[in-house]
Amino acid sequence: MKKSKLLSTFSDNLHAFTVRSGGFSAPPYASLNLGFHVGDNPWHVEMNHELLANTLGYDKKALIHMKQIHSEKVHTVSAQDNFYNPPTCDALITDKRNIPLMVMVADCSPLLFYDDEKKVIAVAHAGRQGAFKNIVTNVIKSFRDDFQSDAQNICVSIGASIGRCCYEVGSEIFDEACGIGLKYAITQKEGRYYLDVSKILQTQLLACGIQKQNIEISGECTCCKNDTYFSYRAEGKTGRFAGVLVLLDKEEA
Ligand SMILES: [Zn+2]
Repeated sequence: MKKSKLLSTFSDNLHAFTVRSGGFSAPPYASLNLGFHVGDNPWHVEMNHELLANTLGYDKKALIHMKQIHSEKVHTVSAQDNFYNPPTCDALITDKRNIPLMVMVADCSPLLFYDDEKKVIAVAHAGRQGAFKNIVTNVIKSFRDDFQSDAQNICVSIGASIGRCCYEVGSEIFDEACGIGLKYAITQKEGRYYLDVSKILQTQLLACGIQKQNIEISGECTCCKNDTYFSYRAEGKTGRFAGVLVLLDKEEA
């Protein structure tokens, strides 16, 4: 498990980015797979969730994860959401305490958002599509419009994701990127195109008014470090690791 240096400077949250080791799942999901939708034995996935909850110290049944669809949709956590009925979206936001929010990935970027002033948290899933659709701007908009956050107070930690070292894309993606002003995120080398999703996310966050020092990017490539993380590009059929974030009770913090 990995901690965010940035989020660790605040006492009111509990968070982690998981790795692939230490769980119950068998190959190709070995071993701490947290995704129910990838073909793994659901009992193993459930045990992995239980293990993670016990290790971090939250109630597994209170966890809200997502049915992720590579959209720009942000969902405000409601009473209807629960562990066995995840909302269909790619970002979750709440000011409710003791409700862990989880984003699952295997190459896409897991983003954790924290506003210590207004005590609001969010998580988001952004791969190429989420970055092209600018989901992070929708998340920051929800912080502002629904929770009166000031962008200057929002911290964002981005976990491991596929780096431009490994993320080769076709010419149609290059064309699409150019068409929406994202040419700066593509490196051309020997007639091939490589996409830098982290660079897009950082640029979008800065454009929203997030302070540069409040953006933390892991920089680890899931495809290069496939022994540590699940990577869809490296493996195809594989598990999901996660970013998880909880706003703690004042009394506990
Ligand atoms: Zn790489």
